[in-house]
Amino acid sequence: MPLDIKQLLQSHQGRNYDLHRDHINPVFARVLKTIGFDHVYGKAQGPYLWDNRGNKYLDFMGGWAVLSMGRNHPAIKQALIDFLNEDYPSIVAFDAPLLSGLLAAELKKKTANRLDYVFFTNSGTEGIEAAIKFAKCSTGRPAILFAEKAFHGLSSGSLSLNGEASFRKGFEPLLPECRMIPFNDLAALEQALSKRDVAAFIVEPIQGKGVNIPSPGYLREAAALCRRHGSLFVVDEVQTGVGRTGKFLAIDHEGDVDPDIIVVSKALSGGYVPVGAVLTRRKVWESVFSSMDRAIVHSSTFHQGSLAMVTGLASLKALEEENMMENANRMGKLIIDGINAMKPRFELISDVRGRGLMIGIEFGRPKSLSLRTAWSLIHKMNADLFPQAVVIPLMDDHRVITQVAGHHIDVVKLTPPLNITQEDVRWFLTAFEDVMRKLHQFPGPIWEVMKKLGKHAVTKRPREAVEA
Ligand code: PLP
Repeated sequence: MPLDIKQLLQSHQGRNYDLHRDHINPVFARVLKTIGFDHVYGKAQGPYLWDNRGNKYLDFMGGWAVLSMGRNHPAIKQALIDFLNEDYPSIVAFDAPLLSGLLAAELKKKTANRLDYVFFTNSGTEGIEAAIKFAKCSTGRPAILFAEKAFHGLSSGSLSLNGEASFRKGFEPLLPECRMIPFNDLAALEQALSKRDVAAFIVEPIQGKGVNIPSPGYLREAAALCRRHGSLFVVDEVQTGVGRTGKFLAIDHEGDVDPDIIVVSKALSGGYVPVGAVLTRRKVWESVFSSMDRAIVHSSTFHQGSLAMVTGLASLKALEEENMMENANRMGKLIIDGINAMKPRFELISDVRGRGLMIGIEFGRPKSLSLRTAWSLIHKMNADLFPQAVVIPLMDDHRVITQVAGHHIDVVKLTPPLNITQEDVRWFLTAFEDVMRKLHQFPGPIWEVMKKLGKHAVTKRPREAVEA
């Protein structure tokens, strides 16, 4: 008898948090309960989730920015079903799989054929691990540069390039010779490169933590500086790539950036099967896979798995055919314009920035005395707590899912599916305006909730658990 998955889901519905408390991560289960995110979802379509009581939610977080195509995209789902029905031979290992060849060619085409070979991974962090290895092998140099506030994943190599000390705490020593430099600072980069022992500068074109966008020309000039100093320029497009910012890659906003390695992941999965891809220059590739006895010197059992390749191909097709990047640009502009229009009325909003549908809303110290008192109190309790005053009521009062993104910077991040509609934008903006109205009342209910949360033991680090 095959596993009756429908029956299994129905008979255990609602046990989610108990199971997680007992077997997976009791701390995270507690965090979710504390901030009121402990819903039990039973159905999903596009940007919507439904809980087991039939309530509808608007997901503007998209599973750490993975759900660019929306949940359960019908065409991607159909491709997977059709493929499963083929009984196709997967993971032969000693063959050259057709599907990964096709997806590699497609990815090269989408990235203007800048790079020559593609290594597939099962996640973003694995892509960064590959980039670190390839860069060291290709240059024979030991050091890797990374930016302040960088996030490249949490496996040991990627963690060595993490711009936030609290992530690294308890796991050190990590990789040697990983050097942090300021983001968006060409002089600092040049100085670091001038030691001539740098294998690569690995950088996000828009930082996920804080949605930090570099100055125009920074990425192009950074690539040129790396070339001049014999170092590789690696762009981590794990979050920004595959259409998120309204172009296939975020570096495409700058025209002629010339990277040696590009890492993508997240959206390529279609939200179904984990996958990542590392696109590299021929010279880099040949230095790693340099002879027959090194033909699989970097590899992993599940890389280029058939289901991942099918979702990758189907996701790229959906992205193109449904004009999702154009839509991301239009919807992103509506959101940013909408929030900018609210700015004069809501002094806590200090900035809204983004590209396509990767948007950060930053909050800053208010001028009026009563709000300033509340603001200072919350920041004194916990320097990272404030954005929850936006994220929690958006969820509680409006069933809109967003996330906190940044350390010691008050930013709420939006990374909804790229195919959201004007109606979804209206839902979000109406909800956001209502939350802003309430937040600008002190004393008021939101500040009461924040005070309680600030006192709660778990809030020592609440945001770590709810951001990516
Ligand atoms: N790089 C960036 C820019 C990311 O945003 C992330 C994840 O959020 C990663 C790498 C790590 O990807 P993964 O979580 O798939 O390992």
